[in-house]
Amino acid sequence: SRINQSGVEALREFPNFPIGGILFKDIAPMLAGRGALGEVVSTVASQVSGTEIDAILAVDARGFILGASLADRLGCGFIMVRKPGKLPGDVLSFEYSCEYCSGTLEVTAGLIGDGLRCLIADDLLATGGTARATGNFVKSQGGEIAGYAFILEIEVLKGRRQLDDAPVISAMTC
Ligand code: 5GP
Repeated sequence: SRINQSGVEALREFPNFPIGGILFKDIAPMLAGRGALGEVVSTVASQVSGTEIDAILAVDARGFILGASLADRLGCGFIMVRKPGKLPGDVLSFEYSCEYCSGTLEVTAGLIGDGLRCLIADDLLATGGTARATGNFVKSQGGEIAGYAFILEIEVLKGRRQLDDAPVISAMTC
């Protein structure tokens, strides 16, 4: 696909960002291209066709880019997984850790009912810690994991090994 060629070239790498020892992959230049987001969404959407999805569960903040676009394309629900203190009312929270961070994520209480089939979306799959924690949270609420979807997967970090309970889809790999 075109994103797998021109898209990966448009990725930029930043050593020691946001902390020392991390080689940060920046998707911003790739997304700036005309039609790029639409191609990412089309690539993911074609791979989930036939999969029953009630809602996209997207991780604050770059996860909203693919998550909201995909929810619009598929006509399914959209649920925000937010950084602490952003959501009003009753929230449920869970701990997570990523390649360079750890903390708490929150979801509005009552949105994930029994059997709700959720596709977890984020911008990037690195170690898989964030997606794994989000998937565990879905299960703890009685929901089902329909899959995991990412704009970009850093293959060398082998994050998909942790996500062995549902299909893992990435529009691009590096
Ligand atoms: P993981 O939990 O898979 O280790 O890390 C993925 C999470 O951390 C995602 O929420 C993603 O936004 C962020 N992240 C980790 N490494 C990178 C990176 O190199 N580039 C970008 N854009 N995000 C990253």
